[in-house]
Amino acid sequence: MTTSAQGPDSYGLRPQAVEFPMMLVLSLVYPCNARCPHCPYTNSNIRKEYKDAPYMSEAIFKTIADEAGRYGAYLRISGGGEPMLHRQATDLFVYAKNAGCRVGLITNGSKFTPESCRRLIEGGVDAIEFSVDACTAETYEAVRTGLDWETLEANIRAMLALRNQLGGKSRIICSAVQQKGIDMEAVEAFWVGEIGVDALIRRKFLTWGVNTVLDDTRSADPSAYLDTETVPCPFIFERLNIDSRGNVMVCGYDISCNTNLGNVTTETLRDIWHGPGFQYYRERHLAGRGREIGLCSGCPDWQYRSWQHNYWKVLDTAEHARTETLRQLGPHDDPGVITQGTPP
Ligand code: SF4
Repeated sequence: MTTSAQGPDSYGLRPQAVEFPMMLVLSLVYPCNARCPHCPYTNSNIRKEYKDAPYMSEAIFKTIADEAGRYGAYLRISGGGEPMLHRQATDLFVYAKNAGCRVGLITNGSKFTPESCRRLIEGGVDAIEFSVDACTAETYEAVRTGLDWETLEANIRAMLALRNQLGGKSRIICSAVQQKGIDMEAVEAFWVGEIGVDALIRRKFLTWGVNTVLDDTRSADPSAYLDTETVPCPFIFERLNIDSRGNVMVCGYDISCNTNLGNVTTETLRDIWHGPGFQYYRERHLAGRGREIGLCSGCPDWQYRSWQHNYWKVLDTAEHARTETLRQLGPHDDPGVITQGTPP
């Protein structure tokens, strides 16, 4: 078992995922205060389908965090909407940290307050990732419809300044989708070079099976990371997705939760991870027969998954930048420890 892509024997559960998934991607929230044209939720009926469960409950979140924390797993707070719209957002993230999880937040950056910034930094949230997609107000307002450029810039500057002041452990990251009309070099020069965030993620323009009409016209880099004829999809060997109802999806491509491999209120995540659903997907992919699975055969995003160019590398790159920034800044205030939300 290795993460290198040398041949069929090289693939399998990543060493850190043998017992439990390395990453749990949570759809904490479905509502959003933006209408980004490349967003699969903007371009589908999924938000309407989750009207009965627009926000993950505290009980479901804590069930996930309590189990994941025992394995030091990474909770990636993402999914169908803006996570900071959850009124318990910061309390839940701090709870997960205190339970032993690593926590990474993906946000549009519009809903922070000085208090929530401080709680996230003091709580030791591992990564705060801002979806920026632009480096000018004009472009931002076109690709992040409904959001305000000045608010974004102010909030990122404030988060970064606080992290640096407190010597916090949070990596501050920006991300941009590689779509036409976006000058990625300029985006990186602005956010990393000028503002000083720790890293920029250059995302492929993914279709999620929903943005297919847009893909030909909007993607600025359709080159594949892997050959789907010979290389298994890496996601099923490292991570899983959970919706606001606690249902487990096989991967992030199934954003409508058609696969539903179990529910965290009735089964442990460890059992689901080792259950027949995931085994079926893994065995087919390892045998070079992933295309026989209905979901995977129609997955245009498989080619953009990667065994090498992945989120773990971004975290390492950002961590190096964070420590270097703090080293250059010298001694800082002690961020202390937040204990509110400590698990029982
Ligand atoms: S190939 Fe696509 S649908 Fe299949 S597991 Fe990978 S991401 Fe999911």
